[in-house]
Amino acid sequence: MYFKTIDFSKYSSIKIGQHTEVLIIEKEDIFPKDRYLIGGANNLLISPNPPPLMILSKDFSTINQHKNILIIGASTPTGKIVSYAKKNNIAGFEFLSKLPGSLGGIVAMNAGVKSYEIFNIIESIKLNGKWIKKDNIKYGYRYANILGVITEVKFFITKGFDNNLLKELINLRSNQPNIPSAGSAFKNPQGDYAGRLIEAVGLKGCSKGDIQWSEVHANFLVNHDKGTFEEAKYLIDLAKSKILKEFNILLQEEIKIL
Ligand SMILES: Cc1cc2nc3c(=O)[nH]c(=O)nc-3n(C[C@H](O)[C@H](O)[C@H](O)COP(=O)(O)OP(=O)(O)OC[C@H]3O[C@@H](n4cnc5c(N)ncnc54)[C@H](O)[C@@H]3O)c2cc1C
Repeated sequence: MYFKTIDFSKYSSIKIGQHTEVLIIEKEDIFPKDRYLIGGANNLLISPNPPPLMILSKDFSTINQHKNILIIGASTPTGKIVSYAKKNNIAGFEFLSKLPGSLGGIVAMNAGVKSYEIFNIIESIKLNGKWIKKDNIKYGYRYANILGVITEVKFFITKGFDNNLLKELINLRSNQPNIPSAGSAFKNPQGDYAGRLIEAVGLKGCSKGDIQWSEVHANFLVNHDKGTFEEAKYLIDLAKSKILKEFNILLQEEIKIL
């Protein structure tokens, strides 16, 4: 393991943060227990004083196929997984296209699009060095009970990469802003949409400094240039308090605030 300084104003998808020392974990290392593990920082909001951070090195960016089993390393970016599935005519990974992140982050968030979620296709997960079957892990909408470090994920292979589904899913993305964001800020509450509620309390398009509740998709916070953590946090807290007051719904952040 070794330390590397990461500039989160460049590394994070929302382009907020500062130069921060991050511990890079390599293949043979023991995972420290006192550090917060990050992936591609596509769902993170980094404060000026984040907890000590760590990240898996490229040693964990691997794809290995043995007959009908696929084992993918946790730092593998989604783009690489979709390319592999396409090239090898494997079904089930189409929804990862344009869903930014590393496989570890995708699994920890049970990320997905519409009814396609990563847990639908997982067989087992290597967590803290031990393989655990999916059925022994609690998971749900944008939630997985992952306590520790995922290093690899196992899938059973089904043949037939679906190019039509891929196109359909890419088209769905046209309702998402194409300026820096961190994906959905809030989880959808049961039976409703966080975006609808944000719009209903008049916050769609509302800004603080360079951060704005997107005009394109109300549940996305976007950074127009030099937005700060404080501005993003202000808008998150404002939406939460207005929605609680007007609808008696307490929204839960999807974005991880560090
Ligand atoms: C433009 C845009 C669009 C998006 N659209 C969607 C969407 O449609 N659907 C959706 O679900 N999400 C969406 N997201 C959010 C994001 O793609 C997902 O949350 C993704 O899972 C983040 O992966 P990451 O590697 O960047 O994880 P990070 O953001 O770095 O971390 C997220 C969480 O994963 C944990 N984690 C990371 N790696 C590991 C590991 N190896 N082991 C254990 N825990 C780990 C971290 O501790 C953290 O709690 C979008 C984001 C952006 C920027």
